Amino acid sequence: MASVWLAGLALVLAGPVPALLARARWTRAVPRAAIVLWQAVAVAAVLAAVGSALAAPEALLRVLTHPQERTGAPLAVAVGVAAVLAGLIVVRLVAVLVLLAVRTRKRRARHRDMVDLLARAEQGEAVGSLRTGTVLRVLDGAVPFAYCVPGRVGREGRVVLTGATLETLGPHELSAVIAHEQAHLDARHDLVREGFTALHKAFPVIVRSREARDAVALLLEMLADDAGRSRHGDDAMAGALDAFASASDRAGYGTDVVERLDRIRARVRGGRALAAGTYLAAVALVVVPTVTIVIPWLTDALPTVGVR
Ligand SMILES: [Zn+2]
Repeated sequence: MASVWLAGLALVLAGPVPALLARARWTRAVPRAAIVLWQAVAVAAVLAAVGSALAAPEALLRVLTHPQERTGAPLAVAVGVAAVLAGLIVVRLVAVLVLLAVRTRKRRARHRDMVDLLARAEQGEAVGSLRTGTVLRVLDGAVPFAYCVPGRVGREGRVVLTGATLETLGPHELSAVIAHEQAHLDARHDLVREGFTALHKAFPVIVRSREARDAVALLLEMLADDAGRSRHGDDAMAGALDAFASASDRAGYGTDVVERLDRIRARVRGGRALAAGTYLAAVALVVVPTVTIVIPWLTDALPTVGVR
């Protein structure tokens, strides 16, 4: 039965739960805790899928044989099939993650070289005085635009701005944008995004959904906005996003910027109770299935294979 429960849990955590969580509005108040909850959903879904694969052959053996027949060859086949099924899931996930990490790092290294080459040094130095410790690159561009390119180690990351950003934003807004991008680099938000992209690619197409990846990406933006707000104020961060949103049709910022802007203007900030509750839910998602399904199954199944 453990196998069926775990398979059901994996499906629920891969489909309906992400759909509900992606639509939830309360997560915007506590983006850090909400990201941890998303990570817990992902970990619990993978553990449930692996657990289900491990338990399925043993469950089949129970249905097809009498207790005294569960020895020798049938038992060895069941254990072998369980190991192969669970191994396939883990190997696929690890392979996708490694491949993605290698490709992303290669692409980023090229990107860093390119922005270093194309950057307008004199403008970078002028802006650089706004915040020490940030490696800034200013590119020619008629649309206000800012992004960051993570480095191999923290300080190698670049914050990239267009010339139009410097012309459009006031000094406080510019500082808020730089704080936002630096927060992405300092907290390695790219690694969180990479984990969800890998999971998305590794899941079978039927149960795969973009919701988790997109929702986490938006929450990471909100988390970086909060860094800009806490250092330079709500008005500076909102003013900068407003300038980006006005140019969104051309720059492709889309609805995400508008949503972030609304959130800052509404002064959305989560309370400690909501954050604590969200962290608790994240822990429960991983612990409860382990205690209620996996441990009873192991207690029951391990003696069958001679482990006591
Ligand atoms: Zn950002």
